[in-house]
Amino acid sequence: MVLTLFSLMGCQGVEESEYEKIRKVNAVKEPIYRYHDEVQYTIDTPIHRIREKYPWEEGMIRGHHKITKEFFRCKGNSLNAPKATLTKNYEESYHFDCGGLEEHSLPMRGDQEFIYPILIDLLNYLQEKTGCKVVITSGHRCPKHNLYLDPSKGNKLSKHLIGAEVDFFVETMEKDPEKVVKLLIEFYKEQENDFEYKTFHRYEKGDTNVSTKPWYNKEVFIKLHKPFEGRDIDNDHSHPYISIQVRYDRQAKRRASYTWDQAFNGCLRW
Ligand SMILES: [Zn+2]
Repeated sequence: MVLTLFSLMGCQGVEESEYEKIRKVNAVKEPIYRYHDEVQYTIDTPIHRIREKYPWEEGMIRGHHKITKEFFRCKGNSLNAPKATLTKNYEESYHFDCGGLEEHSLPMRGDQEFIYPILIDLLNYLQEKTGCKVVITSGHRCPKHNLYLDPSKGNKLSKHLIGAEVDFFVETMEKDPEKVVKLLIEFYKEQENDFEYKTFHRYEKGDTNVSTKPWYNKEVFIKLHKPFEGRDIDNDHSHPYISIQVRYDRQAKRRASYTWDQAFNGCLRW
């Protein structure tokens, strides 16, 4: 039985190679001729199209990328471990971090993502003046990330939620934050004629979380955090850092203040 099967298979192999031999013998080669000016279809000359630049490619400032809205994206990360806190009744409650830019947009104004432009202008001015890189440690925070960072009452109304606050330090000037503050004040002296913008005051009330008296003019409020002041996961480094809050919205001509609606419904989620 096995022998028969083997011989049948063998015959089939021989038959196939025989067919191939016959095919090769009888195959007729026919060269394809074409005239030098003969065309099947015409091809237009390709147009060299210059692609639009990405926001981060639009200009460098003294060798550093120009600060754009992109730098302000929420730093939430879903891989961060849940944080447990105790409620009033001594029950454990867990806070989970958000998924950052994979989960939601920046705050929206109209149909566009929005960060107060003065924050971007000030940080780019610093890069231009110092030639050093500005490192944004915390820009926009969505409600979930904000709660994860700091569930205290005072932080619930943070202007980070509405894109009106930024925390940062300047590389190589980490130990000299006062100089950076001076430059921020300088910006207003150079660019503004309005007395309310040019003049900075010191905030005397002791109700802030910093030991250095903050500076403010009509538009911004500047706080200097020394090491061990105002630390959270976003600002988990040993340098002093500066935070700028927007006080006055020039475009809308009103105070830039936190609203629940803007904080919770202000960004798109996906
Ligand atoms: Zn977030």
